Amino acid sequence: MRLPFRHAASSVCAALLALFVAPAAAAALDVTTSFSILGDFVRQVGGERVAVRVLVGPNEDAHAFQPRPSDARALGNSKLVVANGLGFDDWIVRLARSAGFRGTLVVASAGVRTLKMTQVGDRDGKHEGDHDHGGGIDPHAWQDVVNAQRYVANIAEALVAADPEGAPLYRANAERYTGKLQALDAEIRAALTRLPPAQRKVVSSHDAFGYFARAYDIRFLAPVGVSNNAEPTAQGVAQLIRQIKAERAPAVFIENVADPRLIERIRSESGARVGGTLYSDALSAADGAAPDYLAMMRHNLQRLVEALAAR
Ligand SMILES: [Zn+2]
Repeated sequence: MRLPFRHAASSVCAALLALFVAPAAAAALDVTTSFSILGDFVRQVGGERVAVRVLVGPNEDAHAFQPRPSDARALGNSKLVVANGLGFDDWIVRLARSAGFRGTLVVASAGVRTLKMTQVGDRDGKHEGDHDHGGGIDPHAWQDVVNAQRYVANIAEALVAADPEGAPLYRANAERYTGKLQALDAEIRAALTRLPPAQRKVVSSHDAFGYFARAYDIRFLAPVGVSNNAEPTAQGVAQLIRQIKAERAPAVFIENVADPRLIERIRSESGARVGGTLYSDALSAADGAAPDYLAMMRHNLQRLVEALAAR
């Protein structure tokens, strides 16, 4: 009986404590962001001074997002809206307008070195990415960790402007987190440059890794015979195997192939390693493999290195 009692007692303490800290909590800066990666950046910089609402949650697709009426209401009450920009989440601008949003809209990617969609993946430019982002600019700029540092600087600046009293905290958090991003960038660079250049080549159904490819000198080739959504046919898989062999790609990441027999066939006939999941546009749930940006990039790096390491 002791444990439950102590538990109850500590709950009472927690409740009393909550009463005391309530005024500070109520004054938290309300921030709405379009997708989970931006939500993580805002939390890293804002800490407890911000209350972040992410519209497109973990494992959800920002491209196919349909805002709910509750999203419009929450956004209308926010002081700050943080969008990616580059055509990735234009819907948030429309949502802000219709919700009567009067705060500041921050474009987190402002000032990054952009990349054209045609430069994505196959550097010979033989195909175009099939993301319908418009404008021809690849929006997935956060996949280059140097760009992520620019996102964080933009977010920190916006938080300081919206809540000057929190400036010292925001600046200190941004500096600490930027240090972690710099370490991550160096870690990715070191791990991938250990691989021979000819081996830094994967076939992947993602077209979201253009910035990663440019930053870390690795090629992502779009698969043939396999579309993004449907489970491929045996014929499609045969075509894919021919491509892997012709390109001499050591690894393939095709997440929509769920059939283990097809995976085994790709592996045994092409000789390529079949990697797991790479995260691009959304974090995983808190208990998943990529609950925050640092974990997501490390997870992707690990999958790539495992798949590309010498056989
Ligand atoms: Zn995308």
